[in-house]
Amino acid sequence: MDAAIVGGGPAGSLAAILLGKRYDVALFEEHQTPGFPVQCAGLISDNCYRKLKEYCNAKKALENRVKGAFFFSPSASVTLEGRGEAVVVERKLLDALLFERAAERADVFVKEKVKFYGFKIRTSLRELLAEKIIGADGVNSTVSRHFKFPKPGFFTAVQAEMRFEALDEEYVELYFGEKWSDSFFAYAIPLGDTARIGVVSRSNPMQYLKNLVEKHPSVSGRVKGSVIELNIGAIPERLVKFSKEKVALIGDSAGMVKPYTGGGLYYLLVAAEKLAESFPNLREYEKRYLSEMKNEYRFGYLVRKLYSFPDEKLEQLFSAMSDFDFAGVHMDSPSTLIRKVTDVSLRLLNRPSLAFYLLKNLI
Ligand SMILES: Cc1cc2nc3c(=O)[nH]c(=O)nc-3n(C[C@H](O)[C@H](O)[C@H](O)COP(=O)(O)OP(=O)(O)OC[C@H]3O[C@@H](n4cnc5c(N)ncnc54)[C@H](O)[C@@H]3O)c2cc1C
Repeated sequence: MDAAIVGGGPAGSLAAILLGKRYDVALFEEHQTPGFPVQCAGLISDNCYRKLKEYCNAKKALENRVKGAFFFSPSASVTLEGRGEAVVVERKLLDALLFERAAERADVFVKEKVKFYGFKIRTSLRELLAEKIIGADGVNSTVSRHFKFPKPGFFTAVQAEMRFEALDEEYVELYFGEKWSDSFFAYAIPLGDTARIGVVSRSNPMQYLKNLVEKHPSVSGRVKGSVIELNIGAIPERLVKFSKEKVALIGDSAGMVKPYTGGGLYYLLVAAEKLAESFPNLREYEKRYLSEMKNEYRFGYLVRKLYSFPDEKLEQLFSAMSDFDFAGVHMDSPSTLIRKVTDVSLRLLNRPSLAFYLLKNLI
């Protein structure tokens, strides 16, 4: 066997779909179906959706189309508007569709939790050896632990589906500030008359979510009724080294998420393509992925630093950026912000103390 892939989430299924074309591949999933329990808001860029449609019938999982985002300052007194095509997908269904396609190309084993004995793969039903092992087993990866890869660390996310009056059903809403998260942001992703309302934070996400729903000046009056569905999950904090000679990681196990949103689908999709291009050379896989994505991570970490600024500074920044035109900035590529350097610099010219604070704390 050329490759054994551990984990049948989107990273494992995409890797199996792409590698299974040319190699002898086995895919192991510990649950009966992947994508359960759901731990995703389902928001992906139009570009990511287009690419996913090449690999499965992703249209079936489409729930909503999004045209942009409203970014709320901590006090909600300033709202910025960003435009960009995106979609919301039902993750449980998307994972099932990808897994189904993977099963056409690879030997798939469900309800088989993988453990290791040296390089030997062990489940309750079989033992086998593979030339290469791919760890697509999520943020608590057994593969990563067993083969001593660095840990990506994680934030915690809590998400509740609730009835919600969106400002605009085609706009997601992002809420910044110390009261709504200690290190990230809170969000609402509209789905008709409900929304996925969530918080990503380092600690107490449930308390932050409660605050948001009960006290946020814009949100509290628009949430109706009680929680329809509640999900709790982890979001990796940083990309780690993810290749060795015989073993590599992909997806959350390697920390492959957009540092400034926690979205993982597009970054793991790029990784699956690089893995397939480079296989069986796993070092080359890491090299190619970094060559395409390194700058996106760098800019992404920079943007994420903003989320931990004190409310006072964030409020000033939002005021400075009011009417900022996000055209040309792509949600998957924070490096596209570079196109806006002149505009941002001009806005900061008459706010020297804020400009100094940004320089000191970002660079
Ligand atoms: C609340 C929340 C909201 C999110 N929202 C978005 C969003 O809007 N857009 C976006 O792009 N991303 C979002 N993400 C991130 C996204 O969900 C992840 O990046 C993505 O699921 C990672 O896919 P994966 O295949 O690497 O891991 P997973 O989806 O975690 O899949 C890992 C699979 O491995 C299996 N497994 C684990 N261990 C073993 C084992 N030992 N043997 C066999 N199988 C095993 C598990 O059962 C699982 O099926 C969100 C995450 C959270 C927590």
